[in-house]
Amino acid sequence: MAIRVIRKDGDEILRKKSRKVEVIDDRILTLLDDMKDTMKKAEGVGLAAPQVGVLRRVVVIDIGEGLIELINPVIVFESGEQMEEEGCLSIPGIRGKVKRPEKVIVRAMNRKGETFEMTGIGLLAIAFCHEIDHLNGILFTDKAIITEKDD
Ligand code: ZN
Repeated sequence: MAIRVIRKDGDEILRKKSRKVEVIDDRILTLLDDMKDTMKKAEGVGLAAPQVGVLRRVVVIDIGEGLIELINPVIVFESGEQMEEEGCLSIPGIRGKVKRPEKVIVRAMNRKGETFEMTGIGLLAIAFCHEIDHLNGILFTDKAIITEKDD
């Protein structure tokens, strides 16, 4: 168990594309555990590996319905539209509305290397999209209408 440092906007690692996980070894399992702890401590609902400085396609999400771990996640279906306010642990003090699909289906691997699919509607759909964007070097502020900014 360890808390990792969350990289902030301006750190160029947040703009890089993460690599696929080929082998789920102890380093990846430790990364998942540390990301969970780091997300909880920061009171976030999601965290992607590049946010802790690791360019691997690994995401953790907890919107209050239990921990979701995603390795190599891809969106295989999306429908509808929603426009809700988002924030990001890497961009403190800024919130903005982003257009996202209302429903998505994500395909990913779990920590045992098993492939699964999961449907996200509403907030969970937003979390899937937001975190997968991080794996591609995209931040929500690239897409958002900024609604709140602390100085
Ligand atoms: Zn984020």
